[in-house]
This record gives sequence, C-alpha cells and structure tokens, in this order.
Amino acid sequence: MEVLIIGGGWSGIAAAIEATQRGVRVTLVEERHYLGGRARSFTDRVSGDEIDNGQHVMMGCYRALLNVVRTLGTEHLLERQSALRVAFVDTSGQSNVLDASRLPGMAGLGLALLRLSGIKVLSRLAAVRLALRIALGRASTTGLTCAEFLRQHHQPNDVIERFWEPVVLATINAPINKASADLLVTVMRLAFLGSTQDAQLLIPMVGLSDLIRPFQKWLEERGGVCMIGTGVEALERADDRIHSVRLSNGNTIEVQSVISCIPQRALHRLLLGSDMEPLRAAATPSSPIVSVYLWYSESWMSTDFAAALGTTVQWVFDKRRIRPGLVAVTVSAGYGIVTEQADEIVSLCDRELRQLFPSMKGVELKRGVVIKEKHATPLFTLEMVAVRPASTELSTVVSNLFIAGDWTDTGLPATLEGAARSGVNASTYALSQSLPNRQ
Ligand SMILES: Cc1cc2nc3c(=O)[nH]c(=O)nc-3n(C[C@H](O)[C@H](O)[C@H](O)COP(=O)(O)OP(=O)(O)OC[C@H]3O[C@@H](n4cnc5c(N)ncnc54)[C@H](O)[C@@H]3O)c2cc1C
Repeated sequence: MEVLIIGGGWSGIAAAIEATQRGVRVTLVEERHYLGGRARSFTDRVSGDEIDNGQHVMMGCYRALLNVVRTLGTEHLLERQSALRVAFVDTSGQSNVLDASRLPGMAGLGLALLRLSGIKVLSRLAAVRLALRIALGRASTTGLTCAEFLRQHHQPNDVIERFWEPVVLATINAPINKASADLLVTVMRLAFLGSTQDAQLLIPMVGLSDLIRPFQKWLEERGGVCMIGTGVEALERADDRIHSVRLSNGNTIEVQSVISCIPQRALHRLLLGSDMEPLRAAATPSSPIVSVYLWYSESWMSTDFAAALGTTVQWVFDKRRIRPGLVAVTVSAGYGIVTEQADEIVSLCDRELRQLFPSMKGVELKRGVVIKEKHATPLFTLEMVAVRPASTELSTVVSNLFIAGDWTDTGLPATLEGAARSGVNASTYALSQSLPNRQ
C-alpha cells in the first residue's frame, strides 16, 4: 500500500509520519530544495548565522507537533517554560509580567491576570470573568469577530489593547476586527485555560529546519521516499480516482492514494485547467507576517522574549544563543509595513526598541534583515472560517484525494499545530477510506 504526499511542510511531514507508523509506504514530494515550508531556517550570508523565515513559538498543547519532534528525536531542541510567563513592555519603558506560575492550570492564568499591572483593576476583573465564561463554555461566539465578542463581554479598552489584542495577533495572525472569535475561544480553551503544561511556551533553541532535519533519513529507513526539489505538476484522474501524478522532473508516477499538503493557493494552481477545477474551494485571503533580525553590538535584553505594546513591533526575541546582540522582531498581520522598504522597517524597529527598552542605551545597531512573508497564514475571517474544507472534502468526488494544511478545517488557527494535526487527520482518513482492505 502506498500514499503519495504532496508538500514537505509540517502538515506533509506529520502526514508522512502517521502513514508510515501505520505501516504504509510513503512517497513525499516537495517542490522546493528544502523541507519545512513556511517554517524553515537558512544561513544568513553576511553573518553566517542560522536564522528563521520568522520566529516561531509553540505551546505545550501542540500535541501533533510534539509527536513529530518526539518521533524525530528533536524535542530536546525546544526550550520549554516551566509555566506561562510573558513580559509586556510599553513605550514608557515599563515592563509588566503576566506570570501564571503561582497556581496550577487555569487558576494560574486567572491569578496572573489579576496581578497584571499596567491595566486597571476593574479591567483585570473583566478579563478574568470572560476567561471563566470561556472555560465553562458559556461564551457564545456565533457570527462574531474577536472585537465584537470582546465588546459583547464588556472588556474595557485597556485590557483589549494590553492583553486580548496581543493574544489574537500572536495566535491568529489577524486584526481583532477581522479574526473570528471562534478561534480565540478555541485558543483560550486549549492553550491558556488548559493545564500548566498546555500553556507553556516552547521556543526553538536552534534554526527551525533543525527540528525536522532527521525526517528524510527516518522516512527512508522505513522504506519511504523523499523527493526534494521535485514538484507535482498535474494530477491525472480516471473516473473517481487519481491514477498518477506528473512531476516537474518529467516523470509520471502511479499512485494509490494522494494527500495534498500544500497551501490553498498552490492546490488552486494544481487543479486549474484540469477536470477537477470545479472542486477548487473559495480562495482564502492571506495575512502577512514581517520578521526583522537585528544585529546589535552587544546583548541588552533581560528576558528571553517580550511582548511590545503600543508599537508596530509586537514581539522581540533575544537570539543570543545564535549570537550575542542578535534579536528577532515579529509583526503579525503586518499590513501596515509589509509594503515599506526594508531599510525603513529596520530604522522603525530600532527606534521603537529604544523606546521600549531603556537598557539599550549605548548599544549600536550593526545590521538588519527584513523577511516579508506576504502569505504567512490564511486570514481567518468569519466568512473564511465558515468555508474551511475538511480533509475529506474532495474525496467525495475524487475518492483517493485528501487534503491537509493549516488552511483546512481543524478548528485551530493556521499554526504549526493546525498544520501537523491536519496531516494526521488526512492520513487517518486516507488509510481508512482509500485503502479499505489494508490489514
Ligand atoms: C513568519 C511566520 C511566523 C509564524 N509563526 C508561527 C508561530 O509562532 N507559531 C505557529 O504555530 N505557527 C506560526 N506560523 C504558521 C506556520 O508556519 C504555518 O501554519 C505552517 O508552517 C504551515 O504548514 P503547512 O504544511 O500547512 O504549509 P507549508 O509550510 O506552506 O508547506 C507546504 C509545502 O508544499 C510545497 N508545495 C507547494 N506546491 C507544491 C507542489 N505542486 N508540489 C510539491 N510541493 C509543493 C511548498 O513548497 C511547501 O514546502 C508562522 C508562519 C510564518 C510565515
């Protein structure tokens, strides 16, 4: 029994691991010359430092992702917090820490919110009340954006600006007036209102690509094939089945079952002009993330990372493990700056960091690199969440074609966990439906 997996991002890798562990032979085809898709690292040519296409943060509740890194033996490359702890800094140079380590689980977040200075006491109480309603399943989100949901639950401006909005941007990569409240409630329940372990932040200590480096060998040792630098150019079908795929190297390979683990835009291109074109789902708009790496003359951060309030800069990560003085800045849903020139973005970030961190006095900026991921994630508005397709959506017409990827319907935002979980789901369906006689 064989499965062809198209795409070597985290959804494709998770799908391949799942299928292989269930005893199926996997061929994975990735058109780029590297695995990892939108979560990859590369060597910066000038400094020789390994940097990511954008800082990624994971959480303890990322079960499908953790299964991948455990299987590949790379879990130790993730640094895990003992409990959720985030420093919020603002342009007055003040730092307020959300520290959920004082009590276990949900109570920890409740107490952390109550103690979070920089927000009025009544506003903190309002946030705790809403968190409680979410935990108890008493906060309806039907037809609401995050902004509407927060207003409906009487959240004052300061707690929206200093707590809820940073959470939405970081986890859903969408402005609060566009993001579906459904996703916010899911994130709160799974991550922040789960166990202490679920809420822990996990930060890679190495380049992202190192987390999946052993994958190709792992797959090949189990009889699979990993074709990197080879794209799928066409799916060839007869009746209700795909019988073969045409590759960019000119070869055609026969297939029994196909799992597409490519972004929606790429799947659209693949189906365009074929007799499967009508199966194309409505195109999801995407949301950009702008990442900036800044090399300073020396280290100046006193925490591993911090959330910034009231600035274009949203998150700052100390990358001293890679090189003392290197920091990574993230701007999610960065519509406002994605069209700006790189040197202007570098100057803006440097200026804002100096406002946020008085400790930068005397520190010199040596160089900056800007990475613009214009299609970082799908933009999950209310309309888009409503039409997210399930893994099995196309298999009702083409019985051996399944879909995965962060854009498919996992109920999660477009994240590494969403991608990994979608891959596991698609493999599970592919094996149970497309290969019914498998022992
Ligand atoms: C800058 C940035 C920061 C992010 N931060 C976080 C974060 O902190 N936490 C988090 O959880 N998530 C984060 N994300 C989101 C996360 O990276 C994505 O959700 C996830 O990587 C998507 O994985 P995927 O497998 O669905 O798709 P992709 O990673 O896009 O993989 C699809 C693969 O398919 C390949 N492909 C396409 N067409 C073909 C074809 N015809 N033939 C063969 N191969 C093909 C592509 O080359 C690609 O490698 C971030 C994303 C970005 C861009």
